[in-house]
Amino acid sequence: MNFIETRGNDGTYPSSVTFSEAILSPIASFGGLYVPESLPELGEAFLVKHLTSSYKTMAKDFLEIFEIDIDSDVIDEALARYDKFDDPSNPVPVVKVKDDLYISELYHGPTRAFKDMALQPFGTVLSSIAQKRNQNYLILAATSGDTGPAALETFKNRANVQVACMYPDGGTSDVQRLQMVTEDAPNLKVIGIKGSFDDAQSALKQLLASDTFKAALKAKDISLSAANSVNFGRIIFQIMYHIHSYLELVRQDVIEMGEKVYLNVPSGNFGNVLGGYYALRMGLPVEKLIVASNENNILTRLIQTGKYDMRGEKLILTTSPAMDILKSSNVERVLFDLFGAERTKAMMLQLDQEQFYELSAEELKKLQHFFIADYCLAEEGKAYIKEAFENGYLMDPHTATCFKAYETCREKPLKTIAYSTAEWSKFSPTIANVLTGEQDTHDLQALESIAKEAQIEIPCMINALFAKPIAQESIIEKEKIEEEIMSWLN
Ligand SMILES: *Cc1c(COP(=O)(O)O)cnc(C)c1O
Repeated sequence: MNFIETRGNDGTYPSSVTFSEAILSPIASFGGLYVPESLPELGEAFLVKHLTSSYKTMAKDFLEIFEIDIDSDVIDEALARYDKFDDPSNPVPVVKVKDDLYISELYHGPTRAFKDMALQPFGTVLSSIAQKRNQNYLILAATSGDTGPAALETFKNRANVQVACMYPDGGTSDVQRLQMVTEDAPNLKVIGIKGSFDDAQSALKQLLASDTFKAALKAKDISLSAANSVNFGRIIFQIMYHIHSYLELVRQDVIEMGEKVYLNVPSGNFGNVLGGYYALRMGLPVEKLIVASNENNILTRLIQTGKYDMRGEKLILTTSPAMDILKSSNVERVLFDLFGAERTKAMMLQLDQEQFYELSAEELKKLQHFFIADYCLAEEGKAYIKEAFENGYLMDPHTATCFKAYETCREKPLKTIAYSTAEWSKFSPTIANVLTGEQDTHDLQALESIAKEAQIEIPCMINALFAKPIAQESIIEKEKIEEEIMSWLN
């Protein structure tokens, strides 16, 4: 399988690359992304065959169908990362919460958010490719809280890859910050930026634009790669859990093989729901993808009106921060799949220049054939958290956004798989507030109240964070970023 470019070719990049190349250099001509040149058909035979398989066996067969240029032993090692999840025999449990609503829990990995689903195996794959090519890579990441810990965890002590991760000091939860600053490995650097997530991102951009920085990397023979979800190496691992979740419902006798379901996804950068879209396109019986958002409802508006409109928009800080987004990168891959490279390029350039693009009536109809969307306000989300808790299910504020969309988006009474993208332990102050009324508590106190109220234990890897030594002390002004990273690399 080769990978092609969403915005066509500009003559300086190769127009078609292998999977390894798409992973190592994820940005294509005109700032576009790589996508598979075609999507293999799964066929019912694949689904039937894997009804009795483990997650890893299904995943391995799935990757074989994609014919990627990664050796079988590397794939085995990558998938073995799921053995560290809570239940190695089933890393992604699917549980009924009410009526037709089932929750697929994607947070049972080491950092308690769904980013582990893809970043865990991705870390092994990227580092193995780098070793085989005898090249060194630097991954730069600006994180609002979940990607950073998952990226550090996966690359910790891996050969040929270094990671520098920037987070907004004071802009993440205590748990998220501790997950980063307690990581101690020579190939990891964590830097708090004084300011907001925007400042962390602009520090990253400043670095990527700096000629002296680029020259210094070149002199050291270090190349840059990326671990965010523009990297197809992450997306590929995000298709299979949708297949797994569907098979789980068949196994649990909730649906018959072939029966259609809704996939309901709390969305930000659109990587998770893109995985569901690709699964549908490969033949998984999915009625529609339900895209759930928070107050930052740009995706809802796109899917309802055909307009992607960032003009005059400001990012709103919400209780589901991993979904706080204006520019959602992976929408581009759907545009390409539906409307082709030329049209995608035109829309993406218009978005860059005018902060806006609009689908034609016909294009919107095509998009709405696959997607339906709604958004959920923080207060509404809290009511869903409370209701679910009273019915015996504890969930986080990101997951809660799906409950609103479940009520408003279904056009048919079909079973719905909603995705839980974070454990309660990661966003505890909001949940403690719902359960006990306490306000502005710190994570440790909130974790303790929830544990008491719900009579559960704080997960050991979260509890342990509060006693671990701080290994990463840097907190700097964003202007100092280059200096800071260069002195670490030296
Ligand atoms: C990253 C993240 C999301 C958003 O996922 P996308 O793939 O970017 O749409 C939602 N919830 C949580 C908890 C996350 O960490």
